[in-house]
Amino acid sequence: MSNVIYLDHAATTPCDPRVVAAMLPYFTERFANPSSLYRPAQVARQAVEAARERIAAILGCSPAEIVFTGSGSEADNLAIKGVALARRHEGNHLITSAVEHHAVLHACEHLQRHFGFEVTYLPVDQYGRVDPDAVERALTPRTILVSIMLANNEVGTLQPVAEIARRLRGRGVLLHTDAVQAGAMCDLNVERLGVDLMALAAHKVYGPKGIGLLYVRRGTPLLAQIDGGGQEGGRRSGTLNVPSIVGFAEALALAHAQREEENRRLAALRDRIISGVLARVPDATLTGHPSQRLPNSASFALAGVDGQALLVALDLEGICASGGSACSSGSPEPSHVLAAMGVSADRLMGPLRLTVGRGTTEAEVDRLLEILPPLVERARALGGLLAAE
Ligand SMILES: *Cc1c(COP(=O)(O)O)cnc(C)c1O
Repeated sequence: MSNVIYLDHAATTPCDPRVVAAMLPYFTERFANPSSLYRPAQVARQAVEAARERIAAILGCSPAEIVFTGSGSEADNLAIKGVALARRHEGNHLITSAVEHHAVLHACEHLQRHFGFEVTYLPVDQYGRVDPDAVERALTPRTILVSIMLANNEVGTLQPVAEIARRLRGRGVLLHTDAVQAGAMCDLNVERLGVDLMALAAHKVYGPKGIGLLYVRRGTPLLAQIDGGGQEGGRRSGTLNVPSIVGFAEALALAHAQREEENRRLAALRDRIISGVLARVPDATLTGHPSQRLPNSASFALAGVDGQALLVALDLEGICASGGSACSSGSPEPSHVLAAMGVSADRLMGPLRLTVGRGTTEAEVDRLLEILPPLVERARALGGLLAAE
């Protein structure tokens, strides 16, 4: 990756070498199953419990309120299906937003299609923000769960989760937040956020892939979605992924120890991208909120550009960027997020997301700003030629 300029930290982040070092012993000498009885198992068990405590300190919760999962997607599924199915005798109505990650949207659709739940998909404004008043208006006596993300993965917009939590207080409605994209950059204190459930994933915070977690407030009804040996208090069975759990805690602790300083550095790089692109690329508009956005996220909609072709051209120049989410790339469907924000049809096919990270330098940003304008110009000329044929 030495010649590559990686500007897709929203898709995934490199594992920090300090995280890898912390994980390594748990693949080899300390390999025991933490659920076993003998002393080597106690070593693994203690490592898991120490990791749980470190994460709980960052979330401001009790260690017993953390359930490790196999991904951020699994944590979202466990939150939504787990609560909905555990509370279905109390109501069948869920509220979410039109701009959620597919892990949330498709879990809700699954409950609609197969279990008869009703789901309200709240609209967003032009910046991708959910209105807390709209959440309140959507409540019915049958509403049991609201799921609103902390930060959007495609356009970086921050949602007013704490304000939504205040509107829900005392209404008997639980609040889940998908904090996967926000994990390294936002305050994750569950009391300040006021949430009952929160999903995170290690690979978005400079940790390993394939490990996530769900914060579940004590007393929250939750039906397990994976049954088996009863690990994680019966809430998620399966032998614990000890190295990844250790790595997750190390990654989150490193990110949160320097969060504010690093956020300032990232925001300066982000703003350099935003002002550079808007100044040098004609007919580019910023997508997402102008100020209420993740410090690492710059996203645009380019008129008259085939976004896929532009990404291929950037790749040939050694720049990793994306159109929106990594999950939907390869599909020619326009982004559900941009569509919900009312982005005009001529710009919908030209999304560009550039997300900086721990390794990003000013020189890399300047190189991007040099390369991008002629590539956009060429993509537009080519598009014009193809359309004329
Ligand atoms: C990446 C992401 C997910 C999915 O996490 P995985 O660990 O990749 O399954 C869910 N929600 C958001 C907002 C994300 O950015």
